[in-house]
Amino acid sequence: MTDTSADLVILGGGSGGYAAAFRAAELGLSVTLIEKDKLGGTCLHRGCIPTKALLHAAEVADSARDSEQFGVKTTFDGVDIAGVNKYKESIVSRLYKGLQGLAKAHKVNLVEGTGTFVGGTTVEVDGQRHTGKNLLLATGSYAKSLPGLELGGRIITSDDALTLDYIPEKVVVLGGGVIGVEFASVWASFGVDVTIVEALPRLVPNEDEFASKQLERAFRRRKINFKTGVRFTGAKQDDNGVTVSLESGETFEADLLLVAVGRGPNTAGHGYEEAGLAMDRGFVPTDERLRTNLPNVYAVGDIVPGLQLAHRGFQQGIFVAEEIAGLDPRPIDEAGIPRVTYSHPEVASVGLSEDAAKEKYGSGVQTFTYDLGGNGKSQILKTSGAVKLVKAPDGPVVGLHLVGDRVGELIGEAQLIYNWEAFPEDVAPLIHAHPTQTEALGEAHLALAGKPLHVHS
Ligand SMILES: Cc1cc2nc3c(=O)[nH]c(=O)nc-3n(C[C@H](O)[C@H](O)[C@H](O)COP(=O)(O)OP(=O)(O)OC[C@H]3O[C@@H](n4cnc5c(N)ncnc54)[C@H](O)[C@@H]3O)c2cc1C
Repeated sequence: MTDTSADLVILGGGSGGYAAAFRAAELGLSVTLIEKDKLGGTCLHRGCIPTKALLHAAEVADSARDSEQFGVKTTFDGVDIAGVNKYKESIVSRLYKGLQGLAKAHKVNLVEGTGTFVGGTTVEVDGQRHTGKNLLLATGSYAKSLPGLELGGRIITSDDALTLDYIPEKVVVLGGGVIGVEFASVWASFGVDVTIVEALPRLVPNEDEFASKQLERAFRRRKINFKTGVRFTGAKQDDNGVTVSLESGETFEADLLLVAVGRGPNTAGHGYEEAGLAMDRGFVPTDERLRTNLPNVYAVGDIVPGLQLAHRGFQQGIFVAEEIAGLDPRPIDEAGIPRVTYSHPEVASVGLSEDAAKEKYGSGVQTFTYDLGGNGKSQILKTSGAVKLVKAPDGPVVGLHLVGDRVGELIGEAQLIYNWEAFPEDVAPLIHAHPTQTEALGEAHLALAGKPLHVHS
């Protein structure tokens, strides 16, 4: 058995792990990064990037199909899934190469193999021990299923959906959260008959109710079927298809059932419990400085309870690197992390929902909703949707919620407004370029500041 040592040993090279590695290296620390699969993790290889490539291909298909409404004649001959997959894979592989180059440039000691936490701050890989002055756990998450629902064959997860080499005719999507809604959106654009089943009363149930209603309206127009507030009871598959049963007694026949019921922490079988790491339902709780219960052992990303998003993982990784380098970084405010669902239309938000704000600040919470019907650029794009602001009583804007095509790109401004605790009066005088969709944010703040421009109050 041989030993290596470093200032920081990291288990898992996904968003959280590699961000910590790069930032620590920039700060002059020696880093060992252990990865059993591919640097980049879920987001790059099975998550954010490939799904957004599919969503863009879907947008292109919609544009081709709907071009006549802009006076442009095209013929839509269908979707060549091999071509779509080639496009998607070319993006992933270009970014993967870039990431490998960055790891080299930062002189990160990249160890390929499966690591086991063996106690202290030591991880063992193929008989070799890597001990850090500090250890960071960043082993990510996996697609969950429901009790009694066995994955395989026609019952698939997002990992399988990303590698399909054909376009199914009919799909049932179990779960109306971000991942389910994004795949439903892609498939609908590819001409698939899609039904979403969600046990909670609305799609994207973690968003403000306003956003769910807007999205549901748009999905109805797009003929995406959805059943909300109803429990799934079982699925049976054979050579011809899968039959999905609901508690209501309804059944649906489909080619595939996509199970998108959330992601569980990938924390089993890595020696965590044996090493004395405190766990809560498989997750690794941390304090606000991302410390676990064990000395000099930190955790980031999807294994830490909270939002499972790549940019949260990036920021947490940077935080841990700066923390161990003694820079005393500011703890991360979870509510200040922007959230985007990249469906057609998109749903984007930062801060508190109206309900959460009322719980925190009482009934004096103010809201204002600006319809994209009044926004020139949205009309040019022929997208509908709205912007909703939530304001604390006599206080700043504490929640921003947007629905509409491309509104994900507006979340940067929304995030500054929330994180800088801006009052409507601070934002109202800021000039928004015309015609852009950002004007919708400007108009909503003008209205909340008592000086609406293109709105009758
Ligand atoms: C379909 C889908 C779409 C998504 N879209 C978005 C999006 O648009 N935007 C967004 O912000 N987030 C998105 N996410 C979520 C995002 O991918 C995750 O939040 C992010 O990848 C979490 O980063 P992480 O570092 O915690 O874990 P991961 O990225 O999962 O990385 C963990 C790494 O650890 C490695 N590992 C695990 N165990 C071991 C071991 N014992 N030894 C060695 N290596 C190990 C794994 O191989 C993996 O590479 C999406 C996720 C999915 C599934």
